[in-house]
Amino acid sequence: MGGSTQFIIAGNWKMNGLLQESLAFVDALTANPNPDAVEMVICPPYTLLHPLAKPFADKGVTLGAENMYFEESGAFTGSISPLMLKDAGCHYVILGHSERRDIMHEGNTLLRKKLDAAWDVGLTPMFCIGEHLEEREAGATNDVLKQQLSVLAGTDANLPLVVAYEPVWAIGTGKTASPEQVAETHAFVHEELARLGRKCKVLYGGSVNPGNAESLMACEGVDGALVGGASLKADSFMEIVAAAARVAA
Ligand code: PEP
Repeated sequence: MGGSTQFIIAGNWKMNGLLQESLAFVDALTANPNPDAVEMVICPPYTLLHPLAKPFADKGVTLGAENMYFEESGAFTGSISPLMLKDAGCHYVILGHSERRDIMHEGNTLLRKKLDAAWDVGLTPMFCIGEHLEEREAGATNDVLKQQLSVLAGTDANLPLVVAYEPVWAIGTGKTASPEQVAETHAFVHEELARLGRKCKVLYGGSVNPGNAESLMACEGVDGALVGGASLKADSFMEIVAAAARVAA
């Protein structure tokens, strides 16, 4: 871990999940084996935030959202505001996920507005960064991460933040970064955060599953995982939580 006390295992359900199946997911969740060592977080689609807030709270799961717009309210058809997420019981909000950067063309200017708006209502951003395969192969990983982290320049270091390092080539592909790549890149991210006056947890994301979670969580500088596919089933999510708890023990 990067000097923190509790792993975060966060599920990102993306555009998956209907009400009945999500309630079945909650029913199937087993007890967190060590809540002091692992925080369980799920970020479902917006439609499930209100109905899942209490069932998740009862199971010790912290609620997060997958995205938001930066305005508080108004004529922004189809958007969701930070205040609405707060009102639904969210603690976290994922910002800057590669799918939003690549498909919805979100860049630093917009992301800075979203970060500020999240902080304004007391949400903790889970800020995603990561390089594409061509960038890694060209030796540009650190430059890309530095550019993505530069949105934090000048922000108040006391405001809560979690960073998720997610190599884009490892998301949903079944490929994971090697423990060496993870340790090396997390060291760079922690260093860059320190240069920006920040100290925060840095999660790894990219095809984390029950089979690889323990070795990934054991890497120096890894403070948890952001999990896509493997968070959709309660048993695989709980196996990842258990793997983190073993590493913390
Ligand atoms: C993600 O979407 O943040 C992610 C890491 O997905 P997966 O675990 O499916 O690669």
